[in-house]
Amino acid sequence: MVILVINAGSSSVKFTVFDMADQKKVLALGLIERIGIEGTTMKYSNFRGEEVKGEVPVKNPQDAVKLIAERLLDSKVGVLKSLAEVKAIGHRIVQGMEKIIQPILLDEKAKNIVRECGVLAPLHNPHNLMGIEACEAVFSGVPNVGVFDTAFHSTMPPKAYLYGLPYKYYEKDHIRRYGFHGTSHGFVARAAAALAGQPVESLKIITAHLGNGASIAAVKDGICQDTSMGLTPLEGVIMGTRCGDVDTTAVLYIMKQEGLTPDQADNLLNKQSGVLGLAGIGSSDLRDVEAKADQGDKLCAQALEVYAYRVKKYIGAYMAVLGGLDILVFTAGVGENSITMRAAILKGLEGLGLKLDPAKNAVRSPEPRVISTDDSPIKIHVIPTNEELAIAEATVKLVA
Ligand code: ADP
Repeated sequence: MVILVINAGSSSVKFTVFDMADQKKVLALGLIERIGIEGTTMKYSNFRGEEVKGEVPVKNPQDAVKLIAERLLDSKVGVLKSLAEVKAIGHRIVQGMEKIIQPILLDEKAKNIVRECGVLAPLHNPHNLMGIEACEAVFSGVPNVGVFDTAFHSTMPPKAYLYGLPYKYYEKDHIRRYGFHGTSHGFVARAAAALAGQPVESLKIITAHLGNGASIAAVKDGICQDTSMGLTPLEGVIMGTRCGDVDTTAVLYIMKQEGLTPDQADNLLNKQSGVLGLAGIGSSDLRDVEAKADQGDKLCAQALEVYAYRVKKYIGAYMAVLGGLDILVFTAGVGENSITMRAAILKGLEGLGLKLDPAKNAVRSPEPRVISTDDSPIKIHVIPTNEELAIAEATVKLVA
């Protein structure tokens, strides 16, 4: 069964084509960037290792999906004989609020709900919808399935999702914590249980998704109990360019001092803060900050310390939430790759039962692996995330 997975963002469309019947093989994948801006480019590669890169005349998501279909059918680099081979399309959708908490077939009613949920994700849901409508036009008759970033966290209890704000804002405006990266947290929690050879339903797991965006989740018996992101993906740990938890009064103070509009403040918190803002070297990439810190840059070293400390605090908090811990999982760009950041986060946690094996931690590998010592009471795993595969699996499950 061939499944196309689409992730339509504000200026990019990412895609992956899986043959789920052939060991979930990736037939082709790629990305169209800078849609609607000058210099729109497409990268495409297939399972034979053939690649195409270059500028493309794409003005909107519909052009993008048309071009993806053309490449998939291309006589040289294509992987399909007919678009009818695609049996379903899975879409990554950011915000489902309390209205959609499972993967769903995107009929008119469901699309209207996605539209309504856009009030809380104005930069994401409208673009996700454009991707869905483009697929309806190009892959006519093929079912579209929505897989929501918020869905995995919908099991959080009110004590975890309510803010200490007047209750009427929850009732009237749906202001609460929703959490994001849910598809990834669910995927790596299940993969960690599989690696441990135990059912996920019997485990207490903390998943640390540390990428450009970063969030931590507390998962008990396969069900999310709490997560660090909130109403939007700003809350929680320090990220590439987002500040994470901050006293809101600090923001109000800066707004007053500098005469910032709400949009300018939003930009400051989401795009200029985090590692970028703390390290001050013009890069939010942890590799750059780690390299500068190694060369003796004090602000970079401090930024890394702040980053690690915040993650450490969430691990401690979530051990309390879960009443113990069986497995800690690291995933995403930083979590999968940064040997030093994992070590910094875990330093001093041996007394809580988290014993890192330095030699295992130093191994670079694309495979799921254990990096704790054999006698560590709590296992520490590195599990590469694969949100596209998780979306494809959820799509197959729904249409089958
Ligand atoms: P996104 O959140 O955009 O999906 P990723 O999960 O791919 O991002 O993570 C990207 C980030 O991972 C990069 O910005 C970089 O900071 C970090 N990263 C990737 N490789 C390494 C590495 N070897 N060492 C440290 N950080 C890394």
